[in-house]
Amino acid sequence: MSGRLTDVRGVDFHCHVDLYSDYVGLIAECDREQILTLAVTTTPKAWSRNRELAADSRYVHVGLGLHPQLVGERADELPLLERYLDSALFIGEVGLDASPRHYRTFAEQERVFERILEVCAEAGGKILSIHSVRCASKVLGYLEKHLLPDHGRAVMHWFTGSASEAARAASLGCYFSVNDAMLKAAKSRQVIAQLPLDRLLTETDGPFVMVNDRPARPRDTTKTLAGLAAARGMKSSAMAEIVEVNAARLQLVTK
Ligand code: MN
Repeated sequence: MSGRLTDVRGVDFHCHVDLYSDYVGLIAECDREQILTLAVTTTPKAWSRNRELAADSRYVHVGLGLHPQLVGERADELPLLERYLDSALFIGEVGLDASPRHYRTFAEQERVFERILEVCAEAGGKILSIHSVRCASKVLGYLEKHLLPDHGRAVMHWFTGSASEAARAASLGCYFSVNDAMLKAAKSRQVIAQLPLDRLLTETDGPFVMVNDRPARPRDTTKTLAGLAAARGMKSSAMAEIVEVNAARLQLVTK
């Protein structure tokens, strides 16, 4: 007997729904295809509109975010994030980006990220989708300092750290949302093979990740699930059940 939920067919724990030209249709598609989706946002100003768009959806939840790549121009929206915090369960996309293009704002990114972690820890119970490009150790250090393991939960989105950094993240209680681009990278597949099963989730990071030369859509996570199952030597149906249970533990459930 399968333990799968009858009304859930997939989980997309990190999708930029508002960056698709057909975002209204995309939300309807998530409901029709029964894909639980976390619509992350990149600026606090996008929060209200995203919430309106997803209000009638049973499958799409919205995250309150301030993307590290936008901190240079949007740091002044931090007070807005704090104002909306009470009305948000999911926080994201937030984190740090130490890639060459964004390194010049790194000190400001750190200031903003630490403040976000502080207010989340104070509120308690928040679930964060975390960006950690080229600075996994630093991000984990801040998560440990302010949030984990007792004051909130963190999902490492598109984690590209080393195997030892992944082990540290897991020991802090982090989850990992895995996308198609990660499954194509040999190094990431090795890291994924070592992650605890009870921390695995799927994501698209659409529209940034492409599938078949078009932006990935939440429904594509059914294929990501198959890839993730293969990377762990499991059947897709067994992996689907694990990912659903993990998502439910993080309160990504039908409304
Ligand atoms: Mn993203």
